[in-house]
Amino acid sequence: MADNNSDPDCIFCKIVAGEIPAAIIFETDEVIAFMDAFPSSKGHALVIPRAHHPDVFEMPPSLLAICAQASQRLALASRKALQPDGMTVTQFNGAAAGQTVFHYHQHVTPRWEGQPRRSHGEHMADPEELKAIAAEIRAALD
Ligand code: 5GP
Ligand code: ZN
Repeated sequence: MADNNSDPDCIFCKIVAGEIPAAIIFETDEVIAFMDAFPSSKGHALVIPRAHHPDVFEMPPSLLAICAQASQRLALASRKALQPDGMTVTQFNGAAAGQTVFHYHQHVTPRWEGQPRRSHGEHMADPEELKAIAAEIRAALD
């Protein structure tokens, strides 16, 4: 049966539904990869399932695997496009762990040596700049 879980109050479900804009890098039937609007570094992107599941505890294992594969695809393209020194691929579960949007997502974040780490979710990026970075990463996708 198709997984059509959705939550009308969830900001990421609104991105899935096209109700709010996002700088999308790629999408499939199951997942969407897009730029984080409050990036902790250049190229900070997110992978989400289209279906609403709050966290790792609630995720169907098969969808978790699909998200992991999408994160790897995104990380490879991001590394090729932006040539960072490293890349974090991570996710948070529960407010105490730093989760602020309760729709499962993986952060794929390029890191450069010597660059101070900003916290995610603090400074809003210029949407046009995000679209340009999304296009750079998209062009590097295999
Ligand atoms: P969490 O803390 O839940 O792991 O991360 C949520 C992430 O979603 C944060 O990095 C935050 O910047 C990002 N975010 C929150 N609202 C929006 C939004 O409306 N659009 C986009 N593209 N990212 C968002
Ligand atoms: Zn949602």
